[in-house]
Amino acid sequence: MKKQNKVSATSPSSSELKKLIEHHLQFTLGDGSHVENHQAMWKATSLALNDIIVKKLEATKQQQQKDDHKSVNYLSLEYLMGRLLSNNLHNLGLYQNTEQALKDMGYELADLCEQGADLALGNGGLGRLAACFLDSLATLDYNAMGYGIHYQHGLFEQSFDNGRQIEAPDMWREFGSPWEVCRPQSSQLVPLYGHVEQVFQADGSSEMVWHEGKHLKGVPWDVPIVGYHSDTVNVLRLWECRADHALDWDLFNQGNYLQALDQQVQAETVSKLLYPNDEHPAGQELRFIQQYFFCACSIKDIIARFEINHGKLAELDSELFASKVAIQLNDTHPTIAILELMRVLVDEHHFAWDNAWALCQQVFAYTNHTLLPEALEKWSVALFERVLPRHLTILYRINEAFLNDEVSKQWPGDDEMRRKLSLIEEADEHNGYQRKVRMAHLCVVTAHKVNGVAQIHSDLVKKDLFPEFHQLWPTKLTNVTNGITPRRWLKACNPLLADLLDKNISGDWAKELTSLSALAAQADDAKFQQEFMAIKRKNKEVLTAEIKKLTGVTVSPDAIFDVQIKRLHEYKRQHLNLLHILALYRRLLANPELPMQPRVFIFGAKAAPGYKLAKEIIYATNKIAEKINNDARIQDKLKVVFLPNYRVSLAEKIIPAADVSEQISTAGKEASGTGNMKLALNGAVTIGTLDGANIEIAEEVGDDNIFIFGLTVDEVKALNANGYDSHQYYQNNEEIKACLDWLDSDYFTPGHAGELSALKESLLAGGDPYKVLADFQSYSDAHQALDLAYQQPKKWARMAILNTALMGKFNSDRSIEDYVNNIWQLNAGQIAK
Ligand SMILES: *Cc1c(COP(=O)(O)O)cnc(C)c1O
Repeated sequence: MKKQNKVSATSPSSSELKKLIEHHLQFTLGDGSHVENHQAMWKATSLALNDIIVKKLEATKQQQQKDDHKSVNYLSLEYLMGRLLSNNLHNLGLYQNTEQALKDMGYELADLCEQGADLALGNGGLGRLAACFLDSLATLDYNAMGYGIHYQHGLFEQSFDNGRQIEAPDMWREFGSPWEVCRPQSSQLVPLYGHVEQVFQADGSSEMVWHEGKHLKGVPWDVPIVGYHSDTVNVLRLWECRADHALDWDLFNQGNYLQALDQQVQAETVSKLLYPNDEHPAGQELRFIQQYFFCACSIKDIIARFEINHGKLAELDSELFASKVAIQLNDTHPTIAILELMRVLVDEHHFAWDNAWALCQQVFAYTNHTLLPEALEKWSVALFERVLPRHLTILYRINEAFLNDEVSKQWPGDDEMRRKLSLIEEADEHNGYQRKVRMAHLCVVTAHKVNGVAQIHSDLVKKDLFPEFHQLWPTKLTNVTNGITPRRWLKACNPLLADLLDKNISGDWAKELTSLSALAAQADDAKFQQEFMAIKRKNKEVLTAEIKKLTGVTVSPDAIFDVQIKRLHEYKRQHLNLLHILALYRRLLANPELPMQPRVFIFGAKAAPGYKLAKEIIYATNKIAEKINNDARIQDKLKVVFLPNYRVSLAEKIIPAADVSEQISTAGKEASGTGNMKLALNGAVTIGTLDGANIEIAEEVGDDNIFIFGLTVDEVKALNANGYDSHQYYQNNEEIKACLDWLDSDYFTPGHAGELSALKESLLAGGDPYKVLADFQSYSDAHQALDLAYQQPKKWARMAILNTALMGKFNSDRSIEDYVNNIWQLNAGQIAK
């Protein structure tokens, strides 16, 4: 039974909103003069809205305390939130009233929604997933809390200098953010360093005592998470690190003022910046401390919240605690939370070891996001020993029990198996003679459920990554296919299409996304096709202007807009796309009358600052783009643009205008992908490999409405087993050879031959680890089929409509219900159900 949306009954009128905004202009910003200042107006509007939101937040908190339902605590080192104004307005149902209020004051709401920095506290898909999940949890009225780090600087800002990526620090809260509330009363102290002593009692028993070396203070900033047309406002709690002044007081008193201040600076570095690596952990001590700092603050906070209703946590409350608290680990980044909860239960709440361990096993669940071996986190034992000596002793005890009670029972006398499954990787030449802690192993051993993020990925987790764990615990490994929130990724970012859907779908499609399947009946309807494609065309005109603004390049909205937007990584194969662009260019030079639809290739991607080849791929793309865009011989049939500073707010502009979605990772490498879902939902047709969620997208839209190409997972495995030699493709495919040799010349970098050679090298001498050359021909053929399809407008319109119609499965609300039913076992709140 769905309850009526209560928002409208109590929502403020446009004149009340106007008063609120004017109040903030005058008293918070001290600027009552109505000057033409979009930034001030944006801030006043956001602050006005936040007043309304915080009121709802307090009501939600009280209701949740009264209900005392089980809550889920989502631990993630990354949240890629994007901008909040437009989304919060849509979710509150206040967009129209606010638009009217601002019109009365001489402003366009749409312009203000373009103000303000993105909250870019994440790298890519993993962080954006966390953001979509928070939106769905609040929308579905679940008691949920997100925990993360209040980075002073989020993901770096990208620009290009003569085609090369330049990084600048992100300054998202240089002048404060209107969306966060500081909660100093909920601060936490976190111990670290020092040493452990085994202290013996009179009865001969002993306990480990941690003599803590240093303390950090965690100060929480709360970002309210507004549910869509629900009364729930949950919280994303982000921890900022400060020095613990209480302990520094001695230094001040001893006259050591500078040393005391220096400690403060050191402490503040812990939450200073987001590490910009995607799918490749950097391994520095500061990153390790970041992970521990936010986990320790969050575990203490979770216990404190439990104790509000239930009193001091004691061993007797184990079952109760497990029935009230679920903790989800978003990848292995928050793994230390497991050891911290064990430590707090045993050392501070005096639980017996076995009871503490049983509790942890009930509470934690873990999401695996990658199979890439280089992305699986391992921390050196030496670092653990120095920073978290007590946690290391806990880890050893867990490992000993696991190896003796579980592994040796299942595989008696099998030392190889013990070595393989141990939480500690022993020192050998492969790891530089360092012993290392395998974070993913600790997660799997502890968690009651371990999920992959798309069906094929979860199958590979069972088959290739953790086959022995799967044998040991056959029901532990499971799947939850990712999703995206249709509120941000259609309703807010594509208002024209949203209006068309409102007119053609009964009920609220932004909640019940599967209701879009009703559109399938109109996929061949001439009038509906015309309306749908007219909207696509309008969105392309808007993006055309944006492209001009960002790059200076003029493109035509008549061309196919072919989009690849995602982090720059070899496994995602932007260089396969680029190689195909070179081939098209070459074909056009050979035959300017080549029958092909004009095409604009649109890229957006940041490369990790230390990832050399990724940066070379950006440089090559920019240089090749420059040449192609200025070559009159090809009559504007081909354009290539690399839009700088790819981020959520830029994605929101590109996605509504995309005709084609490039999802071309090497099969088996992309765990799920979510960009693929956003683009298909907005009517882009996918060209992609049988990888990640592409497979499930193909199942939903049908083989006729997607362009699948390339090696399958099994074929990639076979190629590796038989010894892949990329040189064969170079020698036997004349087009591949010519395009790669082109990179050695100075054709794209006049006077600087060899500047693009690193790319060719990686595909030949480098062994082409991601099978770019093996998939090239099949990719090129798929593009040819796509070009032919686009030449038939009715056929294309049908495909585009069916993509929008059949994406219902990929609503993140569905993902959340899967977690709720199969992993967390939550009840929805009373507020709206
Ligand atoms: C959705 C999204 C991603 C993830 O894209 P994939 O194609 O799934 O890798 C990365 N960055 C931003 C800004 C996004 O919005």
